[in-house]
Amino acid sequence: MFAVNDRISTTREYSEAIEDFLKAVYMIQRGQERVPTSALAEMLKISPSSASEMAKKLARAHLVEHEPYRGVRLTQGGRRVALEIIRNHRLLELFLVRTLGYGWDEVHEEAERLEHAVSERLIQRIAEFLGHPRFDPHGDPIPDPTGDIHYRDLIPLAEYSPAHTGRVARLSDQSPEMLRYLAEKGLTVGATVEVLKADPFDGPLTLRVNGNEQVIGVNVAQCVLLAPEPENV
Ligand SMILES: [Zn+2]
Repeated sequence: MFAVNDRISTTREYSEAIEDFLKAVYMIQRGQERVPTSALAEMLKISPSSASEMAKKLARAHLVEHEPYRGVRLTQGGRRVALEIIRNHRLLELFLVRTLGYGWDEVHEEAERLEHAVSERLIQRIAEFLGHPRFDPHGDPIPDPTGDIHYRDLIPLAEYSPAHTGRVARLSDQSPEMLRYLAEKGLTVGATVEVLKADPFDGPLTLRVNGNEQVIGVNVAQCVLLAPEPENV
């Protein structure tokens, strides 16, 4: 049933701390040239001095380019490692939801740990088992094995104009509390949403979600990303 991959990584090349650091650079870097080490320290909950130490170490390993006071950016090699970890994470999330009955609000924590532990062979088998999916349970794109990742042009619900209908394509907040709250409002990936009314001065939004009227705050609406045309999410 499974095609066994010839290349089997038995030991991982980099430590968990390095993989997390590269992943954080990738996550923050989107849309900006360089990532300040202070932003990495904050995201990874480490001290600013540990973050700059790590940046220097990874620059010596040619995984990032580091310019003091200007921040870091990924090299081709660093990007490859980051995308491999992100691929592991997103495939694991989908696997846990689809096969073990995990709630979509509880998979992120598990995937944070497992993403560093799975072998290339196991992740390849999981991808095959799931039919090479393109999106994780939160609508985030899954990179392919070569590190190719396809982002869609999505619009935050908070910026959606009234009387337009969209489909929930991605939820940008991964905290279990927020995901449960969104689910209570019917805002899960694939739901149809129409903005009925947007109050001025950052007031609440009145929505029709799968036919039911719901009211949510603007900060909540920032986490919900819509695809204008109904598409296969
Ligand atoms: Zn996650």
